[in-house]
Amino acid sequence: MQAAVRMNAALSALSENAQPRPAGIELVALSKHYPSGNVAVDAINLRIESGSYCCLLGPSGCGKSTTLRMIAGHETVSGGDILLDNRNITTLPAAARGTAMMFQSFALFPHLSALDNVAFSLKMKGMSKAERHAKAQDLLERVSLGHLAQRKPGELSGGQQQRVALARALITSPKVLLLDEPLSALDPFLRVQMRAELRRWQKELGLTFIHVTHSQEEAMALADLMVVMNHGVIEQAGTPSEVYNRPINEFVARFMGGHNVLDTAHGKVAVRNDHLRVLPASQDQGLPATVTDVEYQGTYVLLGLDARYTVDGVDRRAEVCAMLPEADFQARPYVPGEPVRLNWHAAHPL
Ligand code: ADP
Ligand code: MG
Repeated sequence: MQAAVRMNAALSALSENAQPRPAGIELVALSKHYPSGNVAVDAINLRIESGSYCCLLGPSGCGKSTTLRMIAGHETVSGGDILLDNRNITTLPAAARGTAMMFQSFALFPHLSALDNVAFSLKMKGMSKAERHAKAQDLLERVSLGHLAQRKPGELSGGQQQRVALARALITSPKVLLLDEPLSALDPFLRVQMRAELRRWQKELGLTFIHVTHSQEEAMALADLMVVMNHGVIEQAGTPSEVYNRPINEFVARFMGGHNVLDTAHGKVAVRNDHLRVLPASQDQGLPATVTDVEYQGTYVLLGLDARYTVDGVDRRAEVCAMLPEADFQARPYVPGEPVRLNWHAAHPL
C-alpha cells in the first residue's frame, strides 16, 4: 500500500515536471529550389529518432540552414514532405508545428529583462501579464536562472544568455528544438562550455534537437545522429563514430578531417592520421615519403609528409599527415627533409 502511495506521488511529481513528449522527424524527398535556379536542397530523405540530438553538418552553402528553415516553417518547400510524429506538417504555419528555433548569438532583446525576453512570444499571443510571467519564471527556474529573471541580457554571462534563449525557445512547449549555428558567435573556450550545456539540457529535457553547424568537432561532440551534407544532398548519416571510422566516400573522409586519402592498387582508401606508421627510410616496405613539416601539439606530434609512389605503373603523389604519440616521436624524432617510409595498420575502402 505504502509502495503504491509512493509510486503515485512519484508519478504525479513526474507529470508536474513533464515536458512535452519529444517527436521524431522524417524528411521525405525534401527539396528547395530557389527561383534563381539554385537547388539548395535536393530530394533528401532522413529519419531523426524522437528524443535524439541530430547535427546537420557540412561546408558553407550546402543547404543546412535551408533544411532547418523548411522544418521550422520559415521557408516553403519546393517538393517532398516533412513529418513530425507521423503527422504531415509540410504546409502548416510555423507556430502550429510543434517546433521552435534558437538562433545564432541568441538574438535576445537587449532592453528587456530575462523574464520579458522569455515571455515575449506569449505577450504576442495576448496572454495576460500575470500568466505569461508565471510561465516564464517557471522556465527560468528550470534552467537554473530563476534568481536572475530581472536582469537584462547585458548583465548576464554568455552562458546565462544561452539559457535565457533556451527558455525563450521552450516557452511554446515545442517537441523539436531547431538550432542554427547557436555557438558560432562565441569565443572558442565558451563554445566548448556551452556545447556541453546544450547536450546536458537536451538529455535533461528529453527533447529532439536538430542543430546546424559547419564544425566537425562540434557535431562529433554533440550528435547522436550526424548528417553530413554537401551541395544540397546528404552524403552520409550515422553516429559520429560510424561516420568518422567508416566514411562513405572521399568527400566525407576529407571533410571529417583526421584522414588521409590514398590511391592503392585496390582503389582509394582512407587512413586515419593516428593509424599511419612512419618508418625509417632504411625499411624497404611501405610508401616512400619525405617529411615536410613537424608540429608539436603536446600529447602528440603531427608530421606533414609528401608521399610519392606508383600504383600499377602510374605515378601518384599525396600530401598526408601522421599523428605520432609524443613518446614515440621522442624515441625516434624526424626532421623536415628526411626520407621515410609509410605504412598503416588499418584502412577504410572508399
Ligand atoms: P548553409 O546553411 O549550409 O551554409 P544555406 O542553406 O543557407 O547553406 O544555402 C544553401 C544554398 O542556397 C546556397 O547556395 C545559398 O546561396 C542558397 N540560398 C540560400 N538562401 C537563398 C535565397 N533566399 N535565395 C536564393 N538562394 C539562396
Ligand atoms: Mg547556414
